[in-house]
Formats: sequence, C-alpha cells, structure tokens
Amino acid sequence: MKDLKKSEALIEMTKTIAVTGKGTSKEEDVRSKYLLSVDLEDIRYQAKSGLNFPFRVPEMVEHILQFFDDNCIKGTFFVVGKTAREIGSLIQQVHKTGHELGCHTYDHLQLDRMTPEIFRENLLRNIDVLNRLGVDSVYGFRAPDFSLIESTQWAWEVLSELGFRYSSSVLPARNPLYGWDGFPTCPLRMDNGLWELPISITSVIGFKIPFAGGIYLRFFPKIVLHQFCRKHLKRGSPLVGYIHPYDIDTAEKKFKVEKNPFLNKLVYYNRKSTFTKLEFLLKRYVPMRFLDYVHILEKNMEKSNINA
Ligand SMILES: [Zn+2]
Repeated sequence: MKDLKKSEALIEMTKTIAVTGKGTSKEEDVRSKYLLSVDLEDIRYQAKSGLNFPFRVPEMVEHILQFFDDNCIKGTFFVVGKTAREIGSLIQQVHKTGHELGCHTYDHLQLDRMTPEIFRENLLRNIDVLNRLGVDSVYGFRAPDFSLIESTQWAWEVLSELGFRYSSSVLPARNPLYGWDGFPTCPLRMDNGLWELPISITSVIGFKIPFAGGIYLRFFPKIVLHQFCRKHLKRGSPLVGYIHPYDIDTAEKKFKVEKNPFLNKLVYYNRKSTFTKLEFLLKRYVPMRFLDYVHILEKNMEKSNINA
C-alpha cells in the first residue's frame, strides 16, 4: 500500500477540498455531485450458455440514451472493447451526444488475471476500438468487477503511462468478489497524478454496502437510498454509482449467470425499479461526467496550492 501510506497528507487535503472547497469561495463546490456511469458490457459472456440467448445490449443502450436525454444529463460509459466493436454506430451516437467514453478492458478480464504487460496490451486494444469509432481521447478506466485491489495496484502505473487521468475501480470495502477494505472512501490522487474515484459505500450495522449501483441500487427502496446518499455526501465525497445494460432489462430471458441460485436471482431482481430510482436520485443530486469532476478537483487543488 505504498501509495496510500505516502499520500495520507494528500488524502486529508483532498477531503478538505471536497468538503469545503477550502481556500476561497471562487473554488467550485464538489459536494452533492452524482457521478453516474454505465458499465457497457454483454452479460451473456459471464454464462456458459449465454451466447445462445439474444444480444440485448443495443436495445438497452438506446433506452439508457433516451433516459439520459429525457433527464437532460450527460453520463460516463465505461466500455468493453469487444462489445463496442459489435455496436459501433451506437458507440458513435453515445460520443456524439456528449457522453464521456472510458475503458472497461477489451474483454472484461479482471486485473488479477493479468500481468501489467498483458493489461497494457489489453487497454491499447480497448482504446484502439474507441479511436476507430471516432473517440479521440480516452481518460477514464473502470476495472471489471472492481478488481483493483491491493495486489493489483500496479494498474495505476500502467494507466498513467497510457495517458489516463482517472480510474474508478476500487470498491473500498470487503466484498464477496473484489474489494479493498481500508481504502479511502474519497477521491484520491496518486503520486503519478492519476485520480482514483472509489465507488460510494455506506455502513449499516457494521456492514459496508456499495449502495449506489447495480444490484444494491435495485434492492434498496428509494427512501433508504436517499438516506445512504445523504450520509455518504456528508463526508464530502461525490456519489459514484453505476448501472449495466442488463440492470434495466426487464424482458431478458433468464439464464444461469451465477452458480448460486440465490445470487442468480439477484441478477434479475427488481430491474423494473432502476430508472425510477435513478430519476429520484437525479432530481436530488447534481449529475456530472467523471472527467468533468476530475477537472474540478484539479482546479481546486491548483488554487489551493497557490493560496497555501
Ligand atoms: Zn463490468
């Protein structure tokens, strides 16, 4: 955890900026910002028999674009390269309508299944697909399944070398899949200048819950989510949430994504509630693309350094 130990003072400084916009009133307030992302992937690859079922990602992306348009918001799409190749014209539409595009690896491969060299190649492939579709600059990354953990933190160095400005890949809690308990819950700037924007979590009777995305968003009632958001925002961090195309797909035929029948049930649970919950949250918190948020953090840091 060398980066974390070295950066303790920086964490405090970042927190202060996030909470108060320390220094002058001219610094932009980063409170109450809602960073909403779409992890654009094809869930069928996560199941043995998945490819026997219809490809529903294009229709879901169209719904998401319509939803964003109806609510006048710009979001961030972390895109799996292989899937982007299959829906090229839609990716171009996402780009043309002003949403941000970032990487989610070429084939949704978790970081602990790669070496730094393989990760580098994988990212270059992911970027190449986006470049060919007219997305000239890619600055954001999300690790599949939030697999950026203590043992895979080498990924930040690779990202920085390739010109990325931020990652949103850490789930700062213990989790059945991947998680990094003890990682700060606020945005953290690495020594190499890259920002990590961890997924939002809240504590409930000792359990840390990543409430702002996926199954957790579908599971909790609106009013409970609102409480979680308020509690989280009090700490000065933005809301960092996510959905997948399948999170809104109410007509998808069920197949076995998870071996455990209960977990598999959760994959399909309450999908009809996703848009209403997002709408509820978007009325209360200020949506923003991830890169725009990073720009504010950097600007505030600069001003804070000048004023120091
Ligand atoms: Zn994913």
